[in-house]
Amino acid sequence: MTSTQQHLTPVDPARLTEVLDGRWAHVRRDAREQLGEQKYAPVYGETGAQARERITGLLKDLAATGRTRLGFPKEYGGEGDAGASVTSIEMLAYGDLSLMVKAGVQWGLFGGAVELLGSRRHHEAYLRDIIDADLLGCFAMTETGHGSDVQQLRTTCTYDPATQTFDLHTPHDSARKDYIGNAAKDGRMAVVFAQLVTQGKRHGVHAWLVPIRDEAGNPVPGVTIGDDGPKAGLNGVDNGRLSFDHVSVPRDMLLDRYGQVAEDGTYTSSIENETRRFFTMLGTLVRGRVSVGGSAGSATKLALQIATRYGDQRRQFAAPGEDREIVVNDYLVHQRKLLPALAKSYALHFAQEELTSTMHDVQGAESVDEAAQRELESRAAGLKAANTWHATQTIQMCREACGGQGYLAENRLPALKADTDVFTTFEGDNTVLLQLVAKGLLTGYQDSFGSLDSWGKAQFVADLVKETVLERTAARGLIARLVDAVPGRDEEVSLLDRGWQLKMFEDREKHTLEGAANRLRKGASNKENRLFDVFNDVQDHVLRTATTHIDRVVLEAFVAAVDRTTDPAARALLAKVCDLYALSTIEADRGWFLEHGRLTPARSKAVTSAVNGLLKELRPHMRTLVDGFAIPDAWVQARIVSEEGPRQEVMAAEDARVRAAHGEGSAVDTPDATAVDLEMAPAQ
Ligand SMILES: Cc1cc2nc3c(=O)[nH]c(=O)nc-3n(C[C@H](O)[C@H](O)[C@H](O)COP(=O)(O)OP(=O)(O)OC[C@H]3O[C@@H](n4cnc5c(N)ncnc54)[C@H](O)[C@@H]3O)c2cc1C
Repeated sequence: MTSTQQHLTPVDPARLTEVLDGRWAHVRRDAREQLGEQKYAPVYGETGAQARERITGLLKDLAATGRTRLGFPKEYGGEGDAGASVTSIEMLAYGDLSLMVKAGVQWGLFGGAVELLGSRRHHEAYLRDIIDADLLGCFAMTETGHGSDVQQLRTTCTYDPATQTFDLHTPHDSARKDYIGNAAKDGRMAVVFAQLVTQGKRHGVHAWLVPIRDEAGNPVPGVTIGDDGPKAGLNGVDNGRLSFDHVSVPRDMLLDRYGQVAEDGTYTSSIENETRRFFTMLGTLVRGRVSVGGSAGSATKLALQIATRYGDQRRQFAAPGEDREIVVNDYLVHQRKLLPALAKSYALHFAQEELTSTMHDVQGAESVDEAAQRELESRAAGLKAANTWHATQTIQMCREACGGQGYLAENRLPALKADTDVFTTFEGDNTVLLQLVAKGLLTGYQDSFGSLDSWGKAQFVADLVKETVLERTAARGLIARLVDAVPGRDEEVSLLDRGWQLKMFEDREKHTLEGAANRLRKGASNKENRLFDVFNDVQDHVLRTATTHIDRVVLEAFVAAVDRTTDPAARALLAKVCDLYALSTIEADRGWFLEHGRLTPARSKAVTSAVNGLLKELRPHMRTLVDGFAIPDAWVQARIVSEEGPRQEVMAAEDARVRAAHGEGSAVDTPDATAVDLEMAPAQ
């Protein structure tokens, strides 16, 4: 499939929406209807206390819509539909992001932990109240001293058979729970992660359901609650700190699906290895990470929608000899900002949609497929990093693309920027997540996944992949055919040949992965080297294996999406957008392709020309592409675009006025307007 011969005709954005909406289209449609009310829109200029109050109220309203029960088991009033619940959170992210995060904490993290780590008695006792938001709770894992390395948490929970209770204790300040959502104001209970100790032996990190506030909202004895105070964004979320001073926790409050403590203190678990057990527990909570990636995608699409619509009506400078000022979206460099980002948003959307689908199927399977689970975790980690970094970069770019308007709170972008900023850190720091992805690739997913503790071990080096075979992730047959059809001599192949593009992505990943494995092996063969240094000396290379892998997975998802698009005009447009994603990714990394002889200098320059050519072709479709996201106007909430109609009229009137002032043939008489404007345009 090449897009060289395809000519773009106007596309009904609804045809794009059909492809984008995918497997959970009904959830997306419901969300557009249910959450379109003004009350879900963000509010500016509130105090922190007002924002928290409003968001807490909305949490109850949200529960009343029934959307929050989608992922929970049917016996407790849910629908047992993990994919729907993640999609629902993703849709919520078009509204106030504080509400999305608070909902994620309540139903995804807190409710998810009770459901997935607990057993029947916990479900019976608490799930209904959690679903209905009658019991608000926290997911208290991170400590001030341990965030990414949660296996090393310092909080302890020690069993005493005499009282049949656990003693939950924070041994020092840096072991206090920190940044915990719902802790500072609303949470009544918390799922607290701590080191389980029984019969004098540690069994690693487990989770307990612990009351933290009484009916009146005061901390229960032994629990100290602090407030993290003002943050860069997410002002409606009450993040706080929790410390425990020998708090007594009944034995049956251990969430014991993966590890049980008998009355006499005997510990049992179906998973013997402590590390494996812990990461199996965390693995079940993958939904949170998937939701954050998807939500970052929504915020990015919204920012692109605002910047693209604004850029379509904002005029600045006139062409030499002409009166009419240029619409900023007509400038090549403006297109260079918006269109590659838009193409990447499409690409990431399709990859995210596949991830959600895989998660739904893996989690809903009758039996546990460990290999599939590890790949799912890896994909979730990689796409969370890709989506959230893309959000941070793109929202900033959109802010700049709207000039001064982009800086005004009424135009939404400052809040989008502030609220999504931390997405690169919570649910796993992105850099650490990329290492997890790389580790899975380097060991062919043999290693107990989720932990970075084996980097410095000889066994890790022994387990490194001997031969790299890239597993295609989407539309396997189609992609194999496209790649196999590429003729041997690159120079003869069109840059728009999809097979060639795929081959470039595959080649880069394979080479990077093999190079990293060889360097690790070589480093380790010198016995003088400390194993930590062997890894650390190639850490940047190792991370590149992850990013090149994610790029390929994302391209494959896009190719598959184009292939399943039935409307011919929409398919041709998506194929061009896919070209732009592929070529702008190659262009951004052309240093590597040149260094490794994958592009000649001439062909590298041709990639840049091809990207510019695609921008020109896609320019008339920019608005269609953002409209395809089908973001209801009520969610956009940016004055610069809500005033679009009147502004265009004002602009048209202004054009007419200028023309009238200059009379007929004014273009000939008018001095070079660009020069004049440039002279008159000191930096403000
Ligand atoms: C607003 C907000 C809400 C949150 N909500 C919750 C919640 O509800 N519940 C909860 O349990 N937690 C929550 N968290 C905590 C969050 O999950 C952690 O902040 C996150 O896991 C990162 O941990 P850290 O802050 O200790 O950073 P660190 O892990 O200390 O990372 C600091 C820096 O070190 C780098 N680094 C760390 N290890 C490595 C390595 N091996 N190699 C290279 N670089 C490395 C990282 O890339 C990063 O740049 C929240 C955080 C915030 C800010």
